[in-house]
Amino acid sequence: MTDNTDTIVALATPNGVGAIAVIRLSGPDAINIANSVFKGKDLSKQASHTIHFGSIADGDLILDEVLVSLFVGPRSYTRENVVEISCHASGYIIESIIKLFIKKGARSAKPGEFTLRAFLNGQLDLSQAEAVADLIASNSKASQQVALQQLRGGFSTQLQALREQLVNFASLIELELDFAEEDVEFANRDQLKQLIHEITKIVGRLINSFELGNAIKNGVNTVIAGRPNAGKSTLLNALLNEERAIVSHIPGTTRDTIEEVLNIQGINFRLIDTAGIREATDAIEQIGVQRTMEKISQSALLVYVFDAAEITIEELNNDIASLQKPGVTMLVVANKADLLNKSESQKVEKSERSFADLFANQNFDKRDPSTSATSLLQPFGLPDIIFISAKEKHHIDELKHKIYSSAVKDQLSGDETLVTNIRHLEALQKTGEALVRVLGGIDGSITSDFLSMDIKQALHYLGEITGVVTTDDLLENIFSKFCIGK
Ligand code: GDP
Repeated sequence: MTDNTDTIVALATPNGVGAIAVIRLSGPDAINIANSVFKGKDLSKQASHTIHFGSIADGDLILDEVLVSLFVGPRSYTRENVVEISCHASGYIIESIIKLFIKKGARSAKPGEFTLRAFLNGQLDLSQAEAVADLIASNSKASQQVALQQLRGGFSTQLQALREQLVNFASLIELELDFAEEDVEFANRDQLKQLIHEITKIVGRLINSFELGNAIKNGVNTVIAGRPNAGKSTLLNALLNEERAIVSHIPGTTRDTIEEVLNIQGINFRLIDTAGIREATDAIEQIGVQRTMEKISQSALLVYVFDAAEITIEELNNDIASLQKPGVTMLVVANKADLLNKSESQKVEKSERSFADLFANQNFDKRDPSTSATSLLQPFGLPDIIFISAKEKHHIDELKHKIYSSAVKDQLSGDETLVTNIRHLEALQKTGEALVRVLGGIDGSITSDFLSMDIKQALHYLGEITGVVTTDDLLENIFSKFCIGK
C-alpha cells in the first residue's frame, strides 16, 4: 500500500460517455511515459503547469487528439510528476490510452492512491486527505463547506497547536526521568494542569460538534410517526411540496416506510413516513408497528403527528410516553388544526376528554395556535405542541424551522471546526480519556514515568487524527474507501 516508487495511472473522471475524460498519471516516470506516446512537442522540455495539444499514438495508430497538462513535482497534487490527459470520453479511447500507458510502464492505481501519495509526500495531512473524499461525496452546501474547511486545514491547525504544547511538557517530564535520583520537577505541575484543562475543553467541544458535523455530512434520520389517518402522508407531501406518498382515507394504508430527503438550509433530513402506531390488529400491520419502533430507535428526530380533532388527551399522553426514546428528539405536531373549533370535529364519543374539547369554548387563535394553546395544554402535562394543517399547508414553514433547529442548536457561522468523521471522534474520545488520566495522575502525585505514559497516549491519539501517527492498516482502511482515480 505504501510503495510509491512506481508510476500509477487511472481515469480521474466518471466512467461513461461524455464530452471529455481526464486520465491521470502520477509518479517519477509520468512525463516520460506520456512523452513516449505523445505526438506534438517534447513534453520533457516543457515547463510545469502548461497545457499542450497533440495526439496519443500507439505506434502508427492515432488513438485520439488530446490536451496534456503537465505538473512537475513537487508542484502537483501528489508532489510527484503528474500528467493529465484530456481526451474524448469514449470508453474505447479511454481504455486504449490507459492500456498503452500500462504497456509503457505505468500500473493501474488502487482506490485513493493519488490522495494516499499526496498524504505520504506531505502535501496533505490525513484529516485533509479524508476531507477530499468528503468533498467529492458532499451533496449539500453545508456538507461541502464543512469538507472544504477541513481540507483547508482548519481542524489540523487547531490540533497541531495543542499537540505541540503537550509535546513540550512531555519532553520536560522525560527529562525528569533522566534525573530520577535527584527528585526534580522541570515541568511545572500547575501549568501542566492548566494546559490539560485547556486541551480537554477544546477536545470536548470538538467531540460535541460531531452531532452537528455528522448531521451535515450524513443527514439526519427523521421519522414521521403517528396513528393511522393522523395525516402523516399528507404532512410528508406538504414538507416535500409535492405528491409523493400515497394519501388515502383507509386507516393504515401507508404500511411500508417511504424515504424522502428534505433539505432545510443545507441540512438533509431523511424523512421516513411510517405505518401507523395504533395497536395493531392484523399481522401485516403488526410488522409495520414494530418497524416504526425500530426506525425511531435508529433516528435522531421523531416527528410525532396526531389528529387534533380526534385524539383524546389520554391517548395523546400515552403515545408521547410510549414513543419517547433516549437520544431521539421528539417534536409533537397537532395536525388538522383547521378542524379545531369546528362543530363536526367535536364528535369524539369517548369517555375521556378529547384534545379538541380543550379548545371548544376558548378564544383559540387558529392563525397563531402555538402561542394561544400553551396555557391550555400545561395543566395536562403536555409538552410544547406545534399546530399545523398539513392539508391546508398551514404552519409548514414553522415546522420546518423547528426541525432545522432540533439539529442545529447554534447557528452555523461557517468557520467553526466541526468533527464529521467517526474515526476522528473516536480518537478525540480516547484523547479525552488519556487527559483525564493525566489530570488524575498529577493530583495523585504519581511518578513522572507514569505521567509521561499517559501524556504520550494523549499525544498518540491526537496524532492519529492528522496522521502524525499512522499504521499501514489505518491507511489501508481510509484510502480503500476512495474511488479509483482520486
Ligand atoms: P396517514 O394515515 O397518517 O398517512 O394520514 P393521511 O395523510 O393519509 O391523511 C388521512 C386523511 O386526513 C386524509 O383524508 C387527509 O386528506 C386528511 N388530512 C390530512 N391532513 C389534514 C389536515 O390538516 N386537515 C384536514 N382537515 N384533513 C387532513
